[in-house]
Amino acid sequence: SQRIKIKALLESEQTGIDITVKGWVRAFRQNRFIALNDGSTNNNIQIVVDFENTDPALLKRITFGAAISVTGELIPSLGQGQKVEVIAKDIEILGDCDPEEYPLQPKKQTLEFLREKAHLRFRTNTFGAIFRVRNSLSFAVHQFFQERGFVYLHTPIITASDAEGAGETFHVTNFDLANPPKTETGEIDFSQDFFAKATNLTVSGQLEGELGAMALSDIYTFGPTFRAENSNTTRHLAEFWMIEPEVAFNDLNDNMDLAEDMLKYVIKYALDKNADDIAFLSQRLTEEEKQKPQNERSEMTLTDKLQFCLDNDFERLTYTEAIEILKESTPNKKKKFQYPVEGWGTDLQSEHERYLVEKHFKKPVILTDYPKEIKAFYMRQNEPDANGRETVRAMDILFPGIGEIVGGSQREERLDKLEQRMDEMGIPKDELWWYLDTRRFGACPHAGFGLGFERLVLFVTGMGNIRDVIPFPRYPRNAEF
Ligand code: ATP
Ligand code: MG
Ligand code: MG
Ligand code: MG
Repeated sequence: SQRIKIKALLESEQTGIDITVKGWVRAFRQNRFIALNDGSTNNNIQIVVDFENTDPALLKRITFGAAISVTGELIPSLGQGQKVEVIAKDIEILGDCDPEEYPLQPKKQTLEFLREKAHLRFRTNTFGAIFRVRNSLSFAVHQFFQERGFVYLHTPIITASDAEGAGETFHVTNFDLANPPKTETGEIDFSQDFFAKATNLTVSGQLEGELGAMALSDIYTFGPTFRAENSNTTRHLAEFWMIEPEVAFNDLNDNMDLAEDMLKYVIKYALDKNADDIAFLSQRLTEEEKQKPQNERSEMTLTDKLQFCLDNDFERLTYTEAIEILKESTPNKKKKFQYPVEGWGTDLQSEHERYLVEKHFKKPVILTDYPKEIKAFYMRQNEPDANGRETVRAMDILFPGIGEIVGGSQREERLDKLEQRMDEMGIPKDELWWYLDTRRFGACPHAGFGLGFERLVLFVTGMGNIRDVIPFPRYPRNAEF
């Protein structure tokens, strides 16, 4: 008979029928009760085995981690805690699992340990919950944009553009690296490479996305992004997924509204759709918090934090206003900031960002209008203020426990301003001729942002390390599987 998913089975109203379930054994008690899981939910279905009439050789093979198929009758559960259970009529071992050799153990394991066993960690409750939540968030992102008539535009993975310093690139070549063709002066001759020029993996789809927006009006990309981040942080991966909407005729305010609406929409979607998984992760986090000293513990559960984020407007203020707050502040009574605010014009460190979000406003914050000197060339320039300070229409969204989750801006659509800025920053205009063409022909105001998908998953799952929210993390010295 047809396999039925355990989640559906546990919610089933219909009993007295024969069904088939397949999954991995989570526990086998008293030679009688199997807890079976198939990854559709963290809840297991209980299988009752008639051990007196079952081959002892078969019973021995029902071990933690073994893959089995069970056909039997679905009945109302006699025990507590579940609605239904299965009286086994036929059990088939699909894959044995030697408990002595199996790298996972039935007891709770640390995340550090599981990171070493990344190929098997999917089978744990924590990672099952994380990846189901991740799946929902991904679906919700598409649903949000599709409902609003955006076109999902696939931007290239291999490109000659490095988005002007968005991050360190990984090079792409089909050369025999041991013996690449050289020019007369001894340099690698990229004109002989596959694309006849040096190429890399994309660090951002924004510049290409802008071309789409200047014709289709509302587009978004949602694809893998690659940055050879050489530091080991809990917030950076070498391969991460980024959501980058770009909208013609939008200004910075529209851009902030879009980002805030989208974040709330997808978080709400996951809260509804994955209520059980988020409750599980919330409980997990609460247990973890109990290990901390009282004064460092979070007063809110994960579920509270997510709900709070939905119920409140994000705080919006300018960089200049943020600097004024930071100058007057210390992170707590005893400590000073490790990096003192140097004054107007310097970039904020993550401890400043987290102070604003976690201590000062205690909610998500959108910082706007950063100094022109610390931002990318393509951001819309503001008129200098009364003090002659030059800013651009940039925005960063900062989240509690995360720091920067979104970076975006209104773009500079005026060709003369854009070219002047490129000259000042030494950015070769001839290489970006295709980008500048959008300003030459029918230019219009437009704006967009980049949301780091894994940072969003971090926030919604309450996990502490970005490596734990992507199925196959890529970071320095780690790309085996
Ligand atoms: P950060 O300051 O954290 O290094 P960034 O300013 O370099 O980020 P952007 O170029 O603004 O990043 O990219 C947009 C978004 O992509 C960021 O707001 C963040 O959510 C995400 N992001 C950037 N780099 C990484 C990374 N290495 N791993 C995961 N997410 C990232
Ligand atoms: Mg960075
Ligand atoms: Mg940044
Ligand atoms: Mg940024």
